[in-house]
Amino acid sequence: MPRYEYRCRTCGDTFELNRPMAESAAPADCPAGHDDTVKLLSTVAVGGVSAAPAPAPRAGGGGGCCGGGCCG
Ligand SMILES: [Zn+2]
Repeated sequence: MPRYEYRCRTCGDTFELNRPMAESAAPADCPAGHDDTVKLLSTVAVGGVSAAPAPAPRAGGGGGCCGGGCCG
């Protein structure tokens, strides 16, 4: 299960959670109980710069090309 890093904007603490990818964007409460948190990207160095969402490559199809009738 992937590990995600979050930062609490209320107390400034950072914490990590193990959760499924499907829940990576779900709200996460900080250990102190605050819910004003943001998800950090593990590849971004700490520096106070808000992380820009990186375009994720489409993996494993999921839809095919026949939806629009292009395959006859
Ligand atoms: Zn907090």
